[in-house]
Amino acid sequence: MLTQPIQPTHATCPGCATAYQQCCQPLHQGTASADTPEALMRSRYSAYALGLYEYVVATYASAQREQLSVSDIANSAAQTNWLGLRVLDSKILPQSATDAGQFYGEVEFKVFYSEAKTLYCLHERSTFVQEAGQWRYQDGLMLSGNGAIKLKRNDPCCCGSSKKFKQCCLPKI
Ligand SMILES: [Zn+2]
Ligand SMILES: [Zn+2]
Repeated sequence: MLTQPIQPTHATCPGCATAYQQCCQPLHQGTASADTPEALMRSRYSAYALGLYEYVVATYASAQREQLSVSDIANSAAQTNWLGLRVLDSKILPQSATDAGQFYGEVEFKVFYSEAKTLYCLHERSTFVQEAGQWRYQDGLMLSGNGAIKLKRNDPCCCGSSKKFKQCCLPKI
C-alpha cells in the first residue's frame, strides 16, 4: 500500500515527458499497472524524481524487495537531482523456448542526474520479470559511459529535450 502523498501538481511526468495524469500517476496511485517493462521503468524513474520511494520498493521483484527498505532508498537518493531519462531500447522476451507464456523484459536506458553540482550519467540494461501478472524490476547491468560527464554550455542537453544545455538542465544542476 502506498501511504506517501501523491503530488498532483506535476503536470509533466519526469519519466515520460507527457501528462503525468495519463502515464505514471495511475501507476503510482495503484489504480493501474504497467503494461510493459518500459512503462514500469519510466514509472520507477518518475517515482524517484517525485520522491515516491514506497513505489520504488514496491516495484522490485520479491527477492530484491525483501532486502530493501523505503528509508534506505530515500537516503540513497537524498542528494540526487534527477534531470532526465532516455530509454534507448526495450523488449519483451520469452523466458525459454519450452516455458510457454513466461516472459521477461529488458530495458536499456540512460539516466542523467546531478549531485553536489556534478553531472552524472547512469547507463544500464535492466531486467524485468512478471510476478502475479505484474512487471517488476529484477536487476540491472551497468554499461559503458557511467559516471561524471561534462557538457559545454551550447551542447545539446543530455536529457534529450533538444534544447541547449545552458537553456535546459545546466541551471538545475
Ligand atoms: Zn510517466
Ligand atoms: Zn535538459
